[in-house]
Amino acid sequence: MDCLFCKIVSGDIPSKKIYEDDRVLAFYDIDPKAPVHFLVIPKDHIKNVLEIPSKKLDIVSHIFKVIQNIAVELNLNEGFRIVNNCGEQGGQTVDHLHFHVLGGRNLGWPPG
Ligand code: AMP
Ligand code: ZN
Repeated sequence: MDCLFCKIVSGDIPSKKIYEDDRVLAFYDIDPKAPVHFLVIPKDHIKNVLEIPSKKLDIVSHIFKVIQNIAVELNLNEGFRIVNNCGEQGGQTVDHLHFHVLGGRNLGWPPG
């Protein structure tokens, strides 16, 4: 399968890793939109939120635990934003489930 993030998981494409375990990988976004901008992805190929099988939904709570740990590690105590873009209208450009974590500045709302 020709999936950019699967290639990052396999190591075929390099990434700046922050955290890895048997189920997830966290790495810095190549085109950061904030002083801190990283992505957390499942190692399993899941296309997006609409395609998470019910029996695999626990990956989402694990991803949030990983985000919590990294936020503490990176001193994001003043706050941050978790973003998931789903599908075309949601602005998803890579079809492998991922959560953006953005921090280190005041973030505008609502998003464009
Ligand atoms: P989305 O638009 O929500 O699908 O987000 C995809 C994100 O992947 C974008 O923020 C890109 O900057 C990021 N991205 C694309 N290629 C890479 C890469 N090789 N390493 C790290 N991040 C990437
Ligand atoms: Zn994939």
